[in-house]
Amino acid sequence: MNLLLLPKHLQDLISEFNVEHRPLMHVVMDELNRYWILRIEKDKDCNNCLNYADEQYSKYILWSKYNFCGEWCRHDFEYHLRKNYRDDQKRQTLRR
Ligand SMILES: [Zn+2]
Repeated sequence: MNLLLLPKHLQDLISEFNVEHRPLMHVVMDELNRYWILRIEKDKDCNNCLNYADEQYSKYILWSKYNFCGEWCRHDFEYHLRKNYRDDQKRQTLRR
């Protein structure tokens, strides 16, 4: 949707809700963004529940490394990942 096609008063109303137009929120969003990138780079999040991951529960599943906070999250994530992979494989063989 092109907002520039709307009347000016509606454009102004919509832009009030954009956090990047508020100077203080811009600082907060920058800080959140830096924090998020830092967390992703260090791979500290559990891939299942987004809590802090523990290195001892990290595991390679289907050629990718995943981090988990505990045994339950590792099992739950692996179950659903493998199930989705199998379902995708079945769908692809049915298409052929
Ligand atoms: Zn977890």
